[in-house]
Amino acid sequence: MSTNPTIGVFALQGDVREHLRVLTDLGVNTLPVRRAAELDRCDALILPGGESTTMYKLARIFDLFEPLRERIRSGMPAFGTCAGMIMLADRIEDGAKDQETLGGLDITVRRNAFGRQVASFEGDIDFDGFAQPVHAVFIRAPWVEAVGTGVQILATVKVGEASGRIVAVQQGSLVATSFHPEIEGDNRIHRYFVDLVLKS
Ligand code: GLN
Repeated sequence: MSTNPTIGVFALQGDVREHLRVLTDLGVNTLPVRRAAELDRCDALILPGGESTTMYKLARIFDLFEPLRERIRSGMPAFGTCAGMIMLADRIEDGAKDQETLGGLDITVRRNAFGRQVASFEGDIDFDGFAQPVHAVFIRAPWVEAVGTGVQILATVKVGEASGRIVAVQQGSLVATSFHPEIEGDNRIHRYFVDLVLKS
């Protein structure tokens, strides 16, 4: 990977601006990705939080779904937050009818696992390798129901009814979180991903 990679942000739906801002703050070249030609210019990609069913439909309409799948299959690093985690999961529980994912991560995610809008919450969680906890915001978030053998668990919920649930994972250069580091004013997880991109 070049020392100056371009990390795109899937921009057909979701909290695109927040991710673009964090990447810009970290001094990373970035661009919103709506078309395959824009994806071609990227060394890595972030899939934002939003609504995974809408992301899926729009990616199909804009002929971005297959190119994305292909890039992920051929090793492009990617980071998904919330809906983006769902997009990167190989398997989905409680998906909408006919909803497909890009896949890549050998995980099963449960969509809206924490409940509907009212069940959104925030809390501090330990993130593998970080000295200080991460303040995590969950908004109609998925959790990871099951992981394959090659998947590393980076964070689990420590308190409340969801205690023990997996909310951050990594497999090679694919990373996903159930929560939204892009809206927390804490750039550490993005930096973690950028470091991964530089190493890949
Ligand atoms: N519930 C949303 C979905 O299924 C994800 C919510 C989010 O990204 N904040 O896509």
